[in-house]
Amino acid sequence: MSDVQNRRILLASRPEGKPTLDNFRIEAAPCPSPGPGEVLTKTLWLSLDPYMRGRMNAAKSYAAPVGIGEVMEGGTVGEVVSSRSDLFRPGDIVLGHGGWQEYAVLGEKTLRKLDPAAAPVQTALGVLGMPGMTAYTGLHNIGQPKPGETLAVAAATGPVGATVGQIARIRGCRTVGIAGGPAKCRALIEEFGFDAAVDHKAPDFPEKLAAACPGGIDIYFENVGGAVWTAVFPLLNDFARVPVCGRIANYSDTAPPPGPDRTPQLFGAILTKRLRIQGFIVWDFASQAKDFQREMGAWIREGRIKYREDVVEGIGNAPEAFLGLLEGRNFGKLLVKVASPGMQAPD
Ligand code: NDP
Repeated sequence: MSDVQNRRILLASRPEGKPTLDNFRIEAAPCPSPGPGEVLTKTLWLSLDPYMRGRMNAAKSYAAPVGIGEVMEGGTVGEVVSSRSDLFRPGDIVLGHGGWQEYAVLGEKTLRKLDPAAAPVQTALGVLGMPGMTAYTGLHNIGQPKPGETLAVAAATGPVGATVGQIARIRGCRTVGIAGGPAKCRALIEEFGFDAAVDHKAPDFPEKLAAACPGGIDIYFENVGGAVWTAVFPLLNDFARVPVCGRIANYSDTAPPPGPDRTPQLFGAILTKRLRIQGFIVWDFASQAKDFQREMGAWIREGRIKYREDVVEGIGNAPEAFLGLLEGRNFGKLLVKVASPGMQAPD
């Protein structure tokens, strides 16, 4: 048995409303050993993503919840430190689902080998991974962008929103990014090449958004819900498309929002404006993964798609960073740098 300790973050309790640090517990456990067809990976990078808020609830959803006392789940880039698989050997860098912990035993069939010479390995958790593919597939399949159309997207400096905006621009759209605060709005224009940026925290946000979309909105890529959706809704043009990707403003709601029931107006607009509003989960389009990798890889190499990372150091800081993500304190793809490659395998 190895005496190397594996620090890991467990779900301690289910949040009522907004999660707090008390919902997590850090513990050290003996480092696990791989069985046949498995490898032991040392986590180098952990991805923190909004969907993890849903996994903290017991409610039925498209994926099973994390159990109380279980390791929080999450995508990871790790280094193989010992292997009982013919497919992987020590030193390989792999993409997997290791969770919020320093070491993980993972089955060979769940892993993809990464080439560190092709791209920084952590991009497999961001622009070249799940969030990038979410942007690519949701925009193309449901948004169906056409030259000259106006696209709006919120959470627009995050890995999904920033990628949506840049792809839409490549497809000839006019792009309007919505983000929280002046620094993020500046980055939308200067870094990511949006045509206009609107701060959803401004008191006159609905008016500013209307002014930024003089011809209305043809595609609204929905990441947020809440007050942003309320401001977008009247601006939707006839035949507008709304890929419903996320609704982070509502993830911690414990009751329906106050106010009148707006369902009749929504259904009225769907009918009279012939709106197409469709939810999706990225893996609905798993068959398009190769197209995504090829096209996105080329756009990044050509400098046509930019990405921004927000890196936090150490597994112990994952809970605090995750709470910040839900509040908009991240600025770019949120990653935890857990370790550097090249350490010896535990015995
Ligand atoms: P981000 O890195 O963009 O982080 C979330 C951002 O949401 C925050 O930084 C904040 O940005 C914004 N935000 C939080 N609360 C509010 C609010 N009340 N009103 C407006 N904006 C808010 O996240 P991702 O790019 O990883 O994910 C974006 C969305 O896509 C999420 O809803 C996520 O759940 C969804 N998603 C869906 C997938 C699918 O398969 N359907 C797959 C992957 C992601 P700001 O400061 O700018 O407000």
